[in-house]
Amino acid sequence: MSFENIGLSESILRAVEKQGYDKPSPIQEKVIPLILAGKDVLASAQTGTGKTAGFTLPMLQILSEAQQSGKKPVRALVLTPTRELAAQVHESVESYSEFLDISSTVIFGGVKQMKQVARIKKGIDILIATPGRLLDLVDQGLLFLDKVEFLVLDEADRMLDMGFARDINKVLALLPSKRQNLLFSATFSSEIKTLAKKFMHYPTLVEAEPENSTVDKIIQTAYRVDTNDKLPVLINMINDGNWKQVLVFTRTKHRANKIADKLNRANISASAIHGNKSQGARTKALEDFKNSTIRILVATDIAARGLDIPLLPHVINFELPNIPEDYVHRIGRTGRAGASGEAISLVAHDEVDYVASIEKLLGEEFERKIIEGYEPQLKDARPTPQGNGGANRQKSRPKSSPPSKSRAETQLNWKKKKKFLGKK
Ligand code: ADP
Ligand code: MG
Repeated sequence: MSFENIGLSESILRAVEKQGYDKPSPIQEKVIPLILAGKDVLASAQTGTGKTAGFTLPMLQILSEAQQSGKKPVRALVLTPTRELAAQVHESVESYSEFLDISSTVIFGGVKQMKQVARIKKGIDILIATPGRLLDLVDQGLLFLDKVEFLVLDEADRMLDMGFARDINKVLALLPSKRQNLLFSATFSSEIKTLAKKFMHYPTLVEAEPENSTVDKIIQTAYRVDTNDKLPVLINMINDGNWKQVLVFTRTKHRANKIADKLNRANISASAIHGNKSQGARTKALEDFKNSTIRILVATDIAARGLDIPLLPHVINFELPNIPEDYVHRIGRTGRAGASGEAISLVAHDEVDYVASIEKLLGEEFERKIIEGYEPQLKDARPTPQGNGGANRQKSRPKSSPPSKSRAETQLNWKKKKKFLGKK
């Protein structure tokens, strides 16, 4: 199928062509005709499969077809879990609607609301928002949602993970009952289905074939290293491979900051992206990473979810996620669009349980590797003794590998290791 015969207008096709898209992706091929036919659609496809255009293109088609007179109310509402996603979706909507008389804007927390409100007052067709700020503006009487014809929940699974269920319900109560509903998600959990039942009208279920080939193309390796060795190992890997664009995942915001700091001190340009950073800082970090001003983006799971970072050759799990599904989302950042990628996990003794749950979810076992010079000293899954963990660790080092090992020696070992790293 081509974009030309899927039912989109000339103006939209022009914008699509400008983006350089040859043909619809599998999920787009399925959902675009359904949405154009006015159906409620519940769609799931993995990250990076083009879900945004999947709902935006037909939505633009319908909105631009229907006659409008006078001041434009909010006709379409797109809810996303994070500010970055809202900004990203807005950017896509803007480019796809370039040749249409359709206006859109984005609102989210963390920036001053005056400008956002002024923009809405001028009248808007499409509003992209995070649930929090949206409800804020509604509560202040600055925004009305009683003219919404289209509701899109994007990354719905993440919104539920982030505890937005109540906010979503509040928003639903503000909308007119006659409207078209779209729900897009990376996964189809039972929670998603329950949510869908609540507000969708006989939704058509669409699932893009899980592209196993994509996951197959990702080389996944788990290195068993001690927590204290993770940073030198990471720095060595980056330097050794001369990696230019690496996404590093941590479990906590604090650790994300710390790693970014330490990488910068090792002359590897890095920024952290997480929920405690100001909106400006998050946008800048993402931009810098995309245009290669910085080499490393250190992210927490929530901050990274759904972000469109194309062609990423390396994803590093500095810490394993405690939610196994997050691992799948993380490694989905590499090997996108048919390119091959590498996902590396650094596994400390207290993370082997996480590996087990991930393996269970994937239905396959990781190959555990050890790095010479960084052999783990702590036994798997045995809790570190409180208070003197470090001391014990030093004592337990074998004589052949004294803790006072010089930097030169470490590097030597690392060089030896190089061959090993290169091999699958
Ligand atoms: P998802 O929401 O499924 O994670 P996105 O909507 O963010 O994916 O799209 C991922 C990337 O794919 C974006 O860079 C987008 O421009 C690109 N893309 C979308 N549709 C197509 C297409 N039909 N052909 C080529 N690239 C596309
Ligand atoms: Mg998306």
